[in-house]
Amino acid sequence: MNHTKGDTMKAVRLVEIGKPLQEQEVPLPALGDQGVLVRVKAAGICHSDVHYRAGKSPVGVLPQTLGHEVAGIIEKVGPGVSNDRVGERVSLHYLLTCGNCDYCRQGREQFCVTGTMIGKHRDGGYAEYITVPARNAVPLPDTVSFEQGAVLMCSTSTSFHALRKARLKAGETVAIFGAGGLGMSAIQLAYAMGASAVFAIDISPQKLATAKTYGAFPVDASACDPVETLHQKTRGKGVDVSLEVIGLPETMQQAVRCLGVFGRAALAGIAESPFEIDSYQELLGKEAEVIGCSDHLLEELPILLEFLRQGRVDLSHVITESVSLNAEVINNVLDSLEQFEGPVRTVIKPAQ
Ligand SMILES: [Zn+2]
Ligand SMILES: [Zn+2]
Repeated sequence: MNHTKGDTMKAVRLVEIGKPLQEQEVPLPALGDQGVLVRVKAAGICHSDVHYRAGKSPVGVLPQTLGHEVAGIIEKVGPGVSNDRVGERVSLHYLLTCGNCDYCRQGREQFCVTGTMIGKHRDGGYAEYITVPARNAVPLPDTVSFEQGAVLMCSTSTSFHALRKARLKAGETVAIFGAGGLGMSAIQLAYAMGASAVFAIDISPQKLATAKTYGAFPVDASACDPVETLHQKTRGKGVDVSLEVIGLPETMQQAVRCLGVFGRAALAGIAESPFEIDSYQELLGKEAEVIGCSDHLLEELPILLEFLRQGRVDLSHVITESVSLNAEVINNVLDSLEQFEGPVRTVIKPAQ
């Protein structure tokens, strides 16, 4: 252990809503019976963190260390955890659940009645160390980097959960609305799950070009009607599965309208206003489905990590920058995310 300086550590924390994050020296987090102390090697800076800082989504009691996309090395374990886990490379599942309520028992743990999220309701990974229950620490294969292991815990798992909710089957066609972080993962996951063709819909030429490198057929929504184009490209049938990760009423509507018979639209983008659809034409008449998607499940993470290990999912194009555990630098990244600028993904790598 190298944290002998009075058992404190550096953390970058949300102290006051609407204000820049601050660097603080805090006590090392307490380790419970079933807990593990993880030395943070990578923590993703997510768009949700911008909302937490701005007060657009509520967080727990302040001050709060942000960071819910975390990977690292187990440094110490609680008395109830096998010592064999010390030294293990892990990715952290960000939802802490009771395991005992009706939702947890039914495998719907994201609705756990006492569920909390790291980096939101309890201290997260913008720090040198973090503690979580041992079952939240998922083994990270040696060949997968900490950066990818961290970012995988949020956007990629959301995309994976949504495609599973949409019951994507081998041989089906998929339309992904939004070719950012979630969309880029979704393209690769759809192919890994056996999709015959994946269409990426966006208005950014740069994002469409990246989508193409992952094998997607780019559809530039600034130059055509994506619904019409998707029907043409599927010889009038419409797509089997669509996924909306932008969060706009217009693209949600398109994600439903592009469906074929028995099509399923998975909605994962958070929109601020409702969208309208012609229920007979778009749903009843096709027996189509609209499916809401929220978070992901612990059981999905080992599958995802295996996809990464096999190289079927590669996030190296997505993670474009890494920064140190420094409040000023992190605030700058959050500022640029707030303006929808900046790189697709930045990862904090504490120097240790
Ligand atoms: Zn996130
Ligand atoms: Zn529960």
